[in-house]
Amino acid sequence: MDEISFDGKILHTPFAKPDAYGALSMPVYQNAAYEFESAEQMELAFTGKVSDHTYSRITNPTVQNFEDRVKNITGSFGVTAMNSGMAAISNAIITLAQTGSNIVTSRHLFGNTYSFFASTLAAFGVETRFCDLTNSYEVESHIDANTCAVFLEIITNPQMEVVDLKVLSEITKKNGVPLIADTTIVPFCNFKAKNWGINIEIVSSTKYISGGATSLGGLIIDYANFDWLSSPKLHNFAKEFGMAAFTTKLRKEIHRNLGAYMSPQVAYLQSLGLETLSIRYDRATDTCKKLVEKLETLSEIESVNYTGLNSNKYFQLSLIQFGDRPGAMFTINLASREACFRFMNKLKIVKRATNLFDNKTLSIHPASTIFGTFTPEVRKEMNVSDKTIRFSVGLEDVNDLFNDIKKAL
Ligand SMILES: *Cc1c(COP(=O)(O)O)cnc(C)c1O
Repeated sequence: MDEISFDGKILHTPFAKPDAYGALSMPVYQNAAYEFESAEQMELAFTGKVSDHTYSRITNPTVQNFEDRVKNITGSFGVTAMNSGMAAISNAIITLAQTGSNIVTSRHLFGNTYSFFASTLAAFGVETRFCDLTNSYEVESHIDANTCAVFLEIITNPQMEVVDLKVLSEITKKNGVPLIADTTIVPFCNFKAKNWGINIEIVSSTKYISGGATSLGGLIIDYANFDWLSSPKLHNFAKEFGMAAFTTKLRKEIHRNLGAYMSPQVAYLQSLGLETLSIRYDRATDTCKKLVEKLETLSEIESVNYTGLNSNKYFQLSLIQFGDRPGAMFTINLASREACFRFMNKLKIVKRATNLFDNKTLSIHPASTIFGTFTPEVRKEMNVSDKTIRFSVGLEDVNDLFNDIKKAL
């Protein structure tokens, strides 16, 4: 469907089979199991000789249609929908990691991702090597024969750091290591992972895609652009499955055994969310840009951090990689932790809540919440400051948001 637009692809990805009643939207197949006409048919399905659904932990028609739409708009080889962003990250990493492997990443990570690497995986003998991903020399010196992946977030939260993907992907390619990117902050309509040397893309679809924070979800997107013969764990698999080795290992083993597949009801909600992704994203990012420009003029605010601002350190790189809409998340710094709390308690329209890209604008003090159980030393290493408030811009009018923030200051 190359000739049709991004939104056209979302709206017109065909069902795998014609619906018996001609339903226009994909029905919710809210069932666990599927009936077979014969024992022979059953054998073919269970041994993977035909692609019929057998059990909804493994595949489901409603979830598959959501996956097909994402596949269509990303031009990817394989899409696996999970029941949260964390399920997507853990399933993707477990597909590649084994005892003795290491992962090279930055300390600038989403809180649970950091904890998954530093604690959960460490307990299974998988080492995580934290380094400055913006420094090519450091990255290269941390990679060795046991490195199973380089992992990054394309705009880190809440530091708002941007790595030069062209430089990083050249390093990973040269060293035969897959590059895994969490692209949650800038969705498919504005960022094409495939064009930046990313091999596996991870998205928390809880955020932009769900369409107003209706549900949790995660996506593992495989571009089949990596030679898995150089992966320590998938080497033998790659001899049989070639470029499909990652998705085959994930779909035939890891995700079945871990059991975190997206549920049909959620796939329905997120398919609907996907249909309005571009218009919601355009609106929220327009508002975000106007809002940060207004906030920069207020003397009560020490600094405004958004990569779409001319004054931002990453402005040029962000423009090249994400265009003029680098997400609808920004942070501000106030004088102290106390000033942040006082300010947040006075907000009337902006909600105090975690999550990103709800239809409503949200604010959170990351140091005392998402990173609240980390030691001050770890927070310092992660560059999570006590003075920072994070905002996620929703669909309200920009003046309503500006006035609410101005009054609270
Ligand atoms: C929210 C988020 C996650 C985790 O996603 P869940 O759906 O909450 O499990 C991972 N990475 C980033 C960048 C996120 O914002």
